[in-house]
Amino acid sequence: MNNLTLIKHEKTGIVQYHLSDQKVRQKLLVVAVGLFLLLFAAGALFGAFVLNDSNAEQQKIKDLQALVELRQQELIQHKKSVQNDIDSMSLQIGKLMAHSTRLNALGDRLTVVADISQEEFNLTEEPGIGGTEPELTGEVNTPQSLYEHLFNLEDTFTQQQENLNILAQLLNEQSLEQNATPHVMPLKQGWISSYYGKRIDPFTGQQANHPGMDYSGSYDSEIVAAADGVVVWAGKRSTYGNMVEIDHGNGFVTRYAHADKIHVELGQKVTAGELIAIMGKTGRATSEHLHFEIIKNGHKVNPLPFVNS
Ligand SMILES: [Zn+2]
Repeated sequence: MNNLTLIKHEKTGIVQYHLSDQKVRQKLLVVAVGLFLLLFAAGALFGAFVLNDSNAEQQKIKDLQALVELRQQELIQHKKSVQNDIDSMSLQIGKLMAHSTRLNALGDRLTVVADISQEEFNLTEEPGIGGTEPELTGEVNTPQSLYEHLFNLEDTFTQQQENLNILAQLLNEQSLEQNATPHVMPLKQGWISSYYGKRIDPFTGQQANHPGMDYSGSYDSEIVAAADGVVVWAGKRSTYGNMVEIDHGNGFVTRYAHADKIHVELGQKVTAGELIAIMGKTGRATSEHLHFEIIKNGHKVNPLPFVNS
């Protein structure tokens, strides 16, 4: 204890402190505690600074990691979205291809019905496109704009298909109409022996009106339908002898008279050029021949313009 003595003399300014002194010991303790607290506070402050700094760094890293994760998610979403776009576009292209196939099939059918040569009308052939230098609009192709083009194309295809269907129907009707109008020479191998109109009657020798056209031919010449139709008479009919009458359903009726044998029945459907009877001389006939009549809307007309070709 004696060697731990602090001295302060009044006169020299030196003050003596002895540790044995209670007050001195208390003062020293206070000073020591104060110093300790000061040091502790400094350490804590320093530690807080350093730790705080490290926490901020960690937060920054966490933030960056979150950002990377977010970008990754965005990338995945984007990839999905692009894939969806591609899928959707592929679907659209598939639809257009199906449209195109149908249009080609329609085109083929039309060329047959309309009797157009394949060289003249070929939908499978790429159409010629070109022209002068194009004026660029400056717009960029986006998936959206491509979609619009694809959808517009689909609409165009649909419209074209409808138009072609209507055209095919019209052509079909026209072809049906044509087939139902007398156009085939009614005697397969024969020649005209008497025309329609005024002539000397072979029975009376007097001027008379001949309401049809006569054909002569070799023995057993075949009589054929002049157009598509339905047999409405097949048998004997007064001066006509064995006669076939065909209704063509469009105001036209044809009659084939003086037949030897009849090869069709009442109600039978016949097509142009089909065998209906064999030439003969039944009824009011001087010799074997075919008397042919065309009745248009109830009136007998000159058959020559119809079957001349
Ligand atoms: Zn006649």
